[in-house]
Amino acid sequence: MSFETLGLAPALLRALAEQGYDQPTPIQAAAIPAALEGRDLLAGAQTGTGKTAAFALPLLHRLYAAGRTTTQPKTPRALVLTPTRELAAQVHDSVRAYGKHLGVRATTIFGGVGIKPQVDALRRGVDVLIATPGRLIDHIQQRSVNLSHIEVLILDEADRMLDMGFLPSIKRILGHLPRQQRITWLFSATFAPEIKALAGEFMREPVEIQVAKPNSVATTVTHRVHPVDADKKRDLLLHLLQNDARQTLVFGRTKHGADKLAKILEKSGLRAAAIHGNKSQNQRTRALADFKSGKINVLVATDIAARGLDIDQLPMVINHDLPMVAEDYVHRIGRTGRAGAEGLAISLVSHEEEGLLRDIRRLLKQEIEIASVAGFEPSRPLRADGTARPTQKPSGGRPQRHARRPHASNGNEANPEARKKKPRRRGGRGRQSRPA
Ligand code: AMP
Repeated sequence: MSFETLGLAPALLRALAEQGYDQPTPIQAAAIPAALEGRDLLAGAQTGTGKTAAFALPLLHRLYAAGRTTTQPKTPRALVLTPTRELAAQVHDSVRAYGKHLGVRATTIFGGVGIKPQVDALRRGVDVLIATPGRLIDHIQQRSVNLSHIEVLILDEADRMLDMGFLPSIKRILGHLPRQQRITWLFSATFAPEIKALAGEFMREPVEIQVAKPNSVATTVTHRVHPVDADKKRDLLLHLLQNDARQTLVFGRTKHGADKLAKILEKSGLRAAAIHGNKSQNQRTRALADFKSGKINVLVATDIAARGLDIDQLPMVINHDLPMVAEDYVHRIGRTGRAGAEGLAISLVSHEEEGLLRDIRRLLKQEIEIASVAGFEPSRPLRADGTARPTQKPSGGRPQRHARRPHASNGNEANPEARKKKPRRRGGRGRQSRPA
C-alpha cells in the first residue's frame, strides 16, 4: 500500500516524500481512510507506531486540501489534546512538517511558559490548536480561546491523560466544544474501561482500530538485563556508556536521582543532561533539542518527563532503575525500535527489583536476555536468572546472549528446587535445552 492509494492531497504526498516516508505504517493504513470519511475513531496505537501522522494527515487533508472555500474563521477548527508539553511540541512539529506546503496555521499552548505569547498567537488566528488540558482551561477561563468552531477533536495518548488525572479537565473542555458536526479521534495505547466510557459518552459510533496488541513493544527491540548490586549500578552505567558511544536515553526513578546521575556522567566526561518535571520548560526543551541534535548523547529522564518523547531512531534505552509499574517499561522502551529500526533496551536489575522484573516479563511475553557484566557480578544472583555468570569481557566486548523464554523462567521461579537439581552446564546454553 502507498500513501497515494489512501487518497491524500498531492501537497501532503510531497511533504511525506520529503520526510522519507515510503509507505503508511499499519495504524496509518487503518486510520486514514476511516478518518477521511469523517468517521469517529477509537484507535489503539502506541507511541512509535506512526500514530501522529495517522491523525495529522487526514486532519490536514480535511482542513486545507479538500478544496474548501469558506472564509476562514480566526478561531481554531481542530483541537489536539496531549498529556505532556513535550508531546504537544512534537505534534506541532509533525503538523508543521506534514503541512509544510499547505500554509498551516497551528500553535501550541501548554503550561510552564508565559501565557501572553499564546494569547497573541490565538488572537492572530489559528486553525489547529495543540494543547495540554491544564493550560487550555486557563485560556478558557480568561476567554482567550474560543472553541465553538472546533470541527475535529483529537485526544492523543488518552490513557496517559486519564492516568495523569486529566479526566475532569477533559470533560470540562468537551463542554466548550460543539457537540453536533464534530468529529472525534481518540488515540490510546490501551482501551481501559475509562477510555471506553469516555468514548461512549462523547463519540458517535466510532470505528475501532487496534494495530498492535496492548502492552507490546516493537519486535525490533532486543531486551537485555544486567544483574548487578544496587550500589554498583552507577559504575556499571558509566562502564556501559563509556564503551558505547550511541545516543542513549537513561531512565531513573526519581527527579533527584536523574539529576545526580546526569551530574556524575558529566563529571566522567560524558555529554549528558537530565529531563524531569522540576526543570523549567526552557531547560526541558533545550535538553531535548541538544539530545536530538547530538550535542549531548546521554539524556537521563524520569517517566513523566519522557512520555511522548519522539526521538528519531534512538538506538538504546537503559533503565538504571526498573519502573514501579510494568506498563511503564513498555512505554520507556517505546522510544527505541521505532518505525522498523533496531533498538536495544538494557535494564540494570538489582536483587531488590526481582519482583518488578517478573512483572515486566509477564507483561512482555517476550524473550529477555540475561547477562551479567564482568567486574559487576551481583553478590546475590537474581532468582529470575539462575546463573548470573559474567558474560561480558571487562574490555566492554559484546555480552554473550542467554536468551530465555519468560514462561520457562517463571516456571523456575515457582520451583527453585527444580533449578538446583538441574544445574546449568559450563559454557552456558542457548534457548534450547540439550539432553544431559
Ligand atoms: P509516532 O508514533 O507518531 O510518535 O511516530 C514515530 C516515528 O515514526 C516518528 O519519528 C515519525 O516521524 C516516524 N514515522 C511515522 N510514519 C512513518 C512512515 N509512514 N514511514 C516512516 N517513518 C514514519
